[in-house]
Amino acid sequence: MRGDVSPSIEGRRYWKFGWNDLGGLPIIGKTDYQPKGGAFRMFAEGVFRAGHLLTFPAQKTKGKLEAFGRCVYCGRQKDEHGQPLRLTSEHIIPEFLGAGLELPDASCPTCQKITATFESSIAQDIFDPVRKSFSLIGKDGVLKKTNFPLDIGRETSAHEFIPLIHFPTILVLPMLYPAASYSRRPRDADDPFNFRMFNINADPKALQKYAIDQFSSQAIDMVRFAQMIAKIAHVYAMHHLGYGTFKPLVADFVRTDFPPGVRCKSHFEYVGCLWQAKDAKSPNLHEIEIGKIDWNGQSLNAVRVRLFASCDMPSYYVTVG
Ligand SMILES: [Zn+2]
Repeated sequence: MRGDVSPSIEGRRYWKFGWNDLGGLPIIGKTDYQPKGGAFRMFAEGVFRAGHLLTFPAQKTKGKLEAFGRCVYCGRQKDEHGQPLRLTSEHIIPEFLGAGLELPDASCPTCQKITATFESSIAQDIFDPVRKSFSLIGKDGVLKKTNFPLDIGRETSAHEFIPLIHFPTILVLPMLYPAASYSRRPRDADDPFNFRMFNINADPKALQKYAIDQFSSQAIDMVRFAQMIAKIAHVYAMHHLGYGTFKPLVADFVRTDFPPGVRCKSHFEYVGCLWQAKDAKSPNLHEIEIGKIDWNGQSLNAVRVRLFASCDMPSYYVTVG
């Protein structure tokens, strides 16, 4: 085996991938998956029928959809005193990922606070070095930080700060099992299947200069990651399909705060990957596709969300309602 998957001390909410042997790193500029091999269990899964496709180019473009006029998460237009809520704009894909498409008047202050909290922790914990390496333009332009913590611990985390020029940046996203809402997978199963990784610049020779012979990917908070994917799917579905046209399945999950360390058991109930649906090569930075998933005699509105499609990252499928 070329590496191991070590759940961190908090339990099964946080997952990282450790390269204990730098010879096991993917080739720079290539996509790979790890760990390799081993037996796994396939689950019967639904079928995605693709509909409307929305693509995001590598160069950030700004755009505004039609104002929504109520909170997409809690549905409110007024507060408890009957006063109109101050609604803020929602980015369809988080702005820190270099996407500029907004849905105006779409989030109330209460829901906005929760979604902003998980988005900023995901941005920093998983994507900072990747954003910098790809020069993704966020709210304040390209990230100004120049040093990033590298996790050189094995079972627990131990960080060393490395300047970006030598920081081994690898885009790592989880491959998931099909979600419980469209497969035979149990509702509370919370482990990822494996990790898809694109090596941006991790060079074993450069790391030897720092006496680093092993390191780990950023630990992925699977609960907040699933919330981020569900949020993208939900917000775009609300815009595209329209308020009141379907019974939302993930709105409550998206607007629930899960502080670090708190366990959550059903974050993969609506968010997962489909094994039968193969991803094509794509020139797009990100993709969103509205469609349906047929499963168990039912047909649910579903959204495919593929971040870093041009790096051959996986599509996530979310049943939105
Ligand atoms: Zn709200």
